[in-house]
Amino acid sequence: MIKLMKINISLTFILLLSSIPYFSDAQSERWQQAVKYDMDVKMDVKNNQYHGSQVLEYTNNSPDTLSQVFFHLYYNAFQPNSMMDVRSRTIADPDRRVGDRISKLKQDEIGYLKINSLSLDGAELEFEHVGTILEVRLDEPILPHSTVVFESEFEGQVPLQVRRSGRDSQEGVRLSMSQWYPKMANYDEQGWHAQPYIGREFYGIFGDFDVKITIDKTYILGGTGYLQNANEIGYGYEEKGTEVKRPSGNELTWHFHAPKVHDFMWAADPKYTHDKIQMDNGITVHHLYIKGPKTQEVWEKLKEYTPKALDYLSERFGEYPYKQFSVIQGGDGGMEYPMSTLITGERPLNSLVGVMVHELVHSWFHGVLATNESLYPWMDEGFTSFASALTMEEIFAKKDESNTRSFTHSGSYQSYIRLTESGLEEPLSTHADHYHTNSAYSAASYSKGAVFLEQLGYLIGAGNRDKGMLRYWDTWQFKHPNVNDFIRVMEKESGLELDWYKEYWVYSTKTIDYGIKTVEANANSGTKITLERIGLMPMPIDLVITYKDGEQEMVYLPLVIQRGEKPLEEGMPSRVLTQRWAWTHTTTEVVLDRAKSDIKSIEIDPSGRMADVNRKNNRMEF
Ligand SMILES: [Zn+2]
Repeated sequence: MIKLMKINISLTFILLLSSIPYFSDAQSERWQQAVKYDMDVKMDVKNNQYHGSQVLEYTNNSPDTLSQVFFHLYYNAFQPNSMMDVRSRTIADPDRRVGDRISKLKQDEIGYLKINSLSLDGAELEFEHVGTILEVRLDEPILPHSTVVFESEFEGQVPLQVRRSGRDSQEGVRLSMSQWYPKMANYDEQGWHAQPYIGREFYGIFGDFDVKITIDKTYILGGTGYLQNANEIGYGYEEKGTEVKRPSGNELTWHFHAPKVHDFMWAADPKYTHDKIQMDNGITVHHLYIKGPKTQEVWEKLKEYTPKALDYLSERFGEYPYKQFSVIQGGDGGMEYPMSTLITGERPLNSLVGVMVHELVHSWFHGVLATNESLYPWMDEGFTSFASALTMEEIFAKKDESNTRSFTHSGSYQSYIRLTESGLEEPLSTHADHYHTNSAYSAASYSKGAVFLEQLGYLIGAGNRDKGMLRYWDTWQFKHPNVNDFIRVMEKESGLELDWYKEYWVYSTKTIDYGIKTVEANANSGTKITLERIGLMPMPIDLVITYKDGEQEMVYLPLVIQRGEKPLEEGMPSRVLTQRWAWTHTTTEVVLDRAKSDIKSIEIDPSGRMADVNRKNNRMEF
């Protein structure tokens, strides 16, 4: 066997890089608003109407004087001719769960949420209901760094279940109560976020919720928050061995407390079965579902998977910070809420575990990191899809040994490639409500967002990416990070410049296509390979050469603009050559020592992590 002569023209460059401390590690100091909700609600299960009072302590941590505030009144979306109704009917590819159903709701089926009175520090306020937003002008503004108290009385009607929230779901769950109370809109460094409810997801302010719900005694509840009066309620919540003493009367008041969350969901049904699973680490998992032929067996089996998923996610993405997680049958598919999720429950086991895992993963990206989902839906759904695929592989799927190319994130890559071919793609920076089609929103947020992370592993090394995810958690938990915050964490972790990656992948729809143009025998008995950038988005290249004698080697072509190299990755062939590539040059030449006749194949990125839209020109065989 001929020993390879290693060429390393960029050794000096590597040494230089590794000795420079490129980035400092300052903690984020961004201000954010704070809330403390105290709510008392009485639900009439006969007409599905409720009354409540709310005391909201609101702290303006911003440097700004606020002369107006906004509350979300989400249930008003479920009325004929609402923005959500019209949008759902007129979008090119309607969500079949919604379609024209809102337009057909009768008076006792619509949803509403009305404010009857509102005061600020005891002084009555004037306000206007504008669809799903309450606009409030303040005579006395809220000064920077001050805390005020809003007090309100509200009344609502639970809509017939159409989307996420509502009564009498298709699986017969009585009450799925999400987006049900007057919720202060968030104000941050980008100003107010008084989004009308059109259909997409949410953004809230972190704080404490203390919620008392008075409801028919036969109803069993679950949701966000720790039950404070478990021994008076029972239904499986009581401490072991306690004799439950319920107060007399036909109603019970359930008292929940949820610290450090940005929303509060609850669900209720008299037919719920309540399973309580105590984990070794002190976390309690609650499952609530209606027992029947389609649920009985699979929900029994689910008890094994929820704790496993919690453990795995805590290890990979940061420790779950609450003492409780509840998986509750309700809603219309799967939707995440702090410390809990509402999912449909009549599913085969793989689907039930899959949806539980997906919604549980949201506890990290939506629940705790709490990125603004309207502006950065892909940082929630995409990152969640990425982590769900890993979790499912770890706790559920037995990897198909016969398929050596099986790739955890192949679903996301395929969906992204289809999106690029569809002609419907819009940049990831598009506001979630403003995508032109549902399909472009979904493929971008879920799939292109997941590819963003797996491809980041290709750019900076999977090890750096994984450490970076934990660093992201440590730096930004409970702080609403944006895309720039994320990129900065990864820059610090890898020592590479990644602004270009953000700009191309997030703000544009430019695609990646690299190809092997020619392979020629060189005059000095070596081989000359010409590579070509065909797509408009530049990327670093892993070029792997396999020789007929079985030897494999890698030529690494980092971009000049990334200002460095990823480390050698586990399982990759050793690098014989590192050669920077300027993106302005559409072709580049690589010269190998060994003869062309020795080569069996040459391939660009055999790991498949670079989202090359045309892989046909990535490989040449001889
Ligand atoms: Zn999701």
